[in-house]
Amino acid sequence: YIFGKKKATEVAHLVWKHVVQKGDAVIDATCGNGYDTLAMLKMVADESDRFRVYGLDIQKDALENTTSLLDESLNPNEKELVKLFAICHSRMGEVVPKDSSVRLVAFNLGYLPGGDKAITTMSETTLLSLEAAKKILVPGGLISIVVYVGHPGGREEFEAVQAFASGLSVESWICCEFQMLNRPLFI
Ligand code: SAM
Repeated sequence: YIFGKKKATEVAHLVWKHVVQKGDAVIDATCGNGYDTLAMLKMVADESDRFRVYGLDIQKDALENTTSLLDESLNPNEKELVKLFAICHSRMGEVVPKDSSVRLVAFNLGYLPGGDKAITTMSETTLLSLEAAKKILVPGGLISIVVYVGHPGGREEFEAVQAFASGLSVESWICCEFQMLNRPLFI
């Protein structure tokens, strides 16, 4: 495929749209500046009070940026149904209610754009989070992971995610990878 797009996340959003439905519960495991949180909110929000967006990030700055973006973009009903948590995504199972039918768990790994580049997602907690996401997801749901390799630890994390997905049972999961062919994979 050759997409007329500029960002990897835009391609991820296109995939989400084919899986997520109005009224769904979804999780943004790495809120950052809130752009993905907002995109998924727009996919699930309807007039009801059924939909839920759970957002997680370990950085206070990230959650503040996400809150500001949501404040300027959402109506009061939508705002009410977004729940943000300042915790590691490996703990998503503690904050998302057990009876939630979560259809999308999205990860946009790496560091906070515009923030401290030394604070990044880490292979160990990313793998724990992927295990947690597997347990939370409804059948037919999607775990979306955008991985960057250009920062320290990025390559290791990419390989860890690849190994995790490659090892999932073919009876229960279909694991696919999009790779950007016009950018170097490893710098
Ligand atoms: N989705 C974001 C957006 O639309 O702006 C961008 C996410 S940014 C690439 C990665 C984020 O992951 C950072 O904000 C960082 O603080 C967060 N992060 C790092 N480790 C984390 C962890 N263990 N649990 C949750 N978030 C984490």
